[in-house]
Amino acid sequence: MSDTLIDAPVVTTAATPAPATGPESSRPFLVGLVGTGVGPSLTPPLHMAEAEALGLGYVYRTVDLTERGIDPARIGEVLRWARDLGFDALNVTHPCKQLVLPHLDAVDPVAAALGAVNTVLFTPQGTVGHNTDTTGFEAALRSELDDAPRGRVVLVGAGGAGSAVADALLRCGTALLTVVDVDAGRAQDLAGALARRHGRAVDAASSAALTDLVPAADGVVHCTPVGMAEHPGTAFDVALLRPTTWVADVVYRPLETELLLGARAAGCRTLDGGHMAVHQAVGAFELITGHRPDAARMLAHLRALVRTP
Ligand code: NAD
Repeated sequence: MSDTLIDAPVVTTAATPAPATGPESSRPFLVGLVGTGVGPSLTPPLHMAEAEALGLGYVYRTVDLTERGIDPARIGEVLRWARDLGFDALNVTHPCKQLVLPHLDAVDPVAAALGAVNTVLFTPQGTVGHNTDTTGFEAALRSELDDAPRGRVVLVGAGGAGSAVADALLRCGTALLTVVDVDAGRAQDLAGALARRHGRAVDAASSAALTDLVPAADGVVHCTPVGMAEHPGTAFDVALLRPTTWVADVVYRPLETELLLGARAAGCRTLDGGHMAVHQAVGAFELITGHRPDAARMLAHLRALVRTP
C-alpha cells in the first residue's frame, strides 16, 4: 500500500462522530458493502442477524462493482449516490479502501494513519471514514492474547490485511516487528511506511529468513492467502514453531487452517481469523448504529456460517 495517501486532502478528526442514524424515523438502517467479488461476503448476514437480535431494523446489501460494470475509480460517485439514496453507511472493500480516501469529508485518525478505510458513515456533517480491520485485529488480539509477549513479532504477508494488522501490532506494543513477504519489495515498502508513521524501526526480511525468525519470535501473525481452501498448505514450516510462541492467522475460510492445527499440535497459543473478521464487523456495526453488538454471539454466528457449505 502506498503511504502517500496519508497526505490525501482529507480532514482528520479526533472525535468519533455521532452514529449515522439511522433512520430518520422508524425506517431500518440501510447499509451496503461496496467492492469487487463481494457476493460471498459473510458481513451482510453477520450484521443483519445481530441487528435482529438487538431488535433493530437493518438492511445490508452487497454492491458488486464488477457485476454492475462500475469502475472502482468511480467510488466517489458511488458514495454520493448512496448518500442521496438514503444509505446510512457503507463498508468498502477491495479495491476501494484507498481509492475512497480523497472523497471523504473526514477520516478517523487511526484510518488516516493507515491510509485505508473500510467503513464510511453518512453523517449530517458529511462522510466520515474509519478502518475497523485494524481496530478489529487489535480488539481480537487484546481479547484473546492480551497477556502474550510482544517483544519480537513476525508478520508474514504485507498485503491489505498485513498492513492493517501491522498497525494494530504496533499500537498493541510490539517491540520489534519484522515484515516478511514472498515479494521482498512489498515487505520493505510496508516496513518503511510503518517506520515513518510510527516513528520507529520496523524490519523487513525475505521468506527465506523465516527459518531463523520463527524460532526466535514471541508471536507470528500470518496474513497471506495460504491456508485458504483454494490455497492449501502453510507459508512456512510449522516445525519451526516453539511451544512458547503464539500464532495468529487471519485466514478464516477455513477457521482451522493447517498453520493453526500445526501450531496447536506444537503447543502454541493460537488466534483464528474469525476473531478479526468478527471484531471488524463489531466495530462497524457499533459505528453505524450506535448500539454495541454482542461479539460472542457474532463469533458463534460466524463460526456457523463458515461451517455451512
Ligand atoms: P493481498 O493479496 O493483499 O496480500 C497477500 C500478501 O501475501 C501479498 O503481499 C503476497 O505477496 C503475500 N504472500 C502470498 N503468499 C506468500 C507466501 N507463501 N509467503 C509470504 N508471503 C506471501 O491479500 P489480503 O487482502 O491481505 O488477504 C490475505 C488473507 O487475509 C486472505 O486469506 C484473506 O481472506 C484474509 N483476510 C482476513 C481478514 C479477517 O478479517 N480475518 C480480513 C482481510 C483479509
